[in-house]
Amino acid sequence: MSETKKFRVAIAADRCQGHNRCCLVAPELFESDDDGNARVIGDGSVAEAQLPKAKLAVANCPEHAVRLTGA
Ligand code: SF4
Repeated sequence: MSETKKFRVAIAADRCQGHNRCCLVAPELFESDDDGNARVIGDGSVAEAQLPKAKLAVANCPEHAVRLTGA
């Protein structure tokens, strides 16, 4: 039986400066809040097929505010 890994993204709100690059590269995972900062959509769960975009969001955040766990 194969084990299914759970992947999740999170944003460190104290680091986010609102460049919204994460929202651009992974609009299924991130959205802009009323202040122009980013937040995860839903509980931040990442489907296996969304992993490349999640990793792209981590790599493209200039504030190192995006975290991917479970990878
Ligand atoms: S790319 Fe980083 S700093 Fe910019 S909105 Fe997303 S989490 Fe915030």
